[in-house]
Amino acid sequence: MTDPLNNSYYAVTAHIWRPRAFEGDLECDVAVIGGGFTGLSAALACAENGFSVILIEAEHIGFGASGRNGGQLIPGLRWTASELEAEFGRERADALFDLCWRDNRVQARIAKHRIDCDLKSGHLEAAWTPKDFDTMKREADYLAARFGYTSDVVAKADMADHIASPLYHGGIHDPQGGHFHPLNYAIGLAQAAVAAGVRFVEGERVHRIAEFSDGSNELFTTRTIVGARYVIDATDSWIGDVEPDLGRYTVPIMNYNIATAPLANASELLPTDAAVADSRFVLNYFRLSADKRLIFGGGERYSQTPPRDISAFVRPFMAEVFPQIADAPIDYGWGGAVAVTMNRLPHIGRRGNVFYAHGFSGHGALVTTTAGELVAEALAGTAERFDVLASLPSQPFPGGKWLRRPLATLGLLYYAMKDRLG
Ligand SMILES: Cc1cc2nc3c(=O)[nH]c(=O)nc-3n(C[C@H](O)[C@H](O)[C@H](O)COP(=O)(O)OP(=O)(O)OC[C@H]3O[C@@H](n4cnc5c(N)ncnc54)[C@H](O)[C@@H]3O)c2cc1C
Repeated sequence: MTDPLNNSYYAVTAHIWRPRAFEGDLECDVAVIGGGFTGLSAALACAENGFSVILIEAEHIGFGASGRNGGQLIPGLRWTASELEAEFGRERADALFDLCWRDNRVQARIAKHRIDCDLKSGHLEAAWTPKDFDTMKREADYLAARFGYTSDVVAKADMADHIASPLYHGGIHDPQGGHFHPLNYAIGLAQAAVAAGVRFVEGERVHRIAEFSDGSNELFTTRTIVGARYVIDATDSWIGDVEPDLGRYTVPIMNYNIATAPLANASELLPTDAAVADSRFVLNYFRLSADKRLIFGGGERYSQTPPRDISAFVRPFMAEVFPQIADAPIDYGWGGAVAVTMNRLPHIGRRGNVFYAHGFSGHGALVTTTAGELVAEALAGTAERFDVLASLPSQPFPGGKWLRRPLATLGLLYYAMKDRLG
């Protein structure tokens, strides 16, 4: 299927991956649905643990958010570590910190499989207001004192060392964060998975899972039936299509990115080559590509219909941050769905022999690899670390199938408006 939303810089600079398909009915220990970071990491780790694995992807590897995101590797979750400790107590905060901040499994996979995906270190959180900067400084102090996790507090006067924009009131530069080419990371994981014995069925959508009383499962696509002891549902924004009950826990919010033409003054815009995300509710996030384009994300849309001209939609956000390139040529514009949960924490768990991990709420580039690997770990019999993530609270959105999205949209519009009013 050609995807009008995928006129992306990533698609045209992707490494070669030949889509794979199998004919006839298939059997395996573990069937993974979805070829994004979560599904690929889970499939790879399951194969490494000795299971026979089939990964079924409706379109192609990286078709979903994993192949279209801003490429920002931001340690942690959407909640700060101090918020997690206040809510869940010291012991759970320790466990969450170890998994979501300290344990950088993306870096480990890139190193292990020598994945060529333009990995760069450094992430800057830029304060939209002085109040945001105060909050950031308090959190940086807390992280340093409590966990020995250090980052650099950048005063407003020193922001020019990192970013040529007058807008920001300071920031936190985290050398443990970074950025990468997300689609090439996904393809690298897929290649490692093939080498580990994972079989891929691409271009086939799972329509239904039948669970039998002995715990086994059958997955039905249009052309194939896959029999599996275990299922890992890693379909994120689409999870409700196969598992309607799980679909109640997320709503998809459309988010758009552009890539300028290569810029002669790229290194002046972002001198330390860090990825940047600002503290607005509907945030701006941006970074340089390996060939010195500015990749800029900004402006959510609560309608599922994309803007007619994505570049024109995102350009004003870029021009506000960087007026000096307001008229720069834009070569690519694309978008994708961010699966958002009610409380912005991922929804991870298990029902019988069906495992799921979704709803990373725009903060999934790093933690999806961890989540996928922890599902594999649980499936191999050690659920302790999986349970740390699976025990995060989650609530379905109110409103049933038809009202869920409009109600969630109203809530998000309220916060976006508050943000605009300051
Ligand atoms: C525009 C955008 C920008 C973002 N920027 C960032 C960022 O900079 N940093 C960050 O941390 N996070 C970011 N995110 C979020 C991050 O990309 C996601 O959290 C993460 O990629 C989710 O990965 P996943 O594997 O769970 O899901 P996905 O990558 O969405 O993969 C799900 C896959 O399942 C397949 N599928 C769906 N239904 C079926 C079915 N029935 N049968 C078979 N296959 C099926 C889909 O085709 C898809 O390939 C962004 C997201 C978007 C959309």
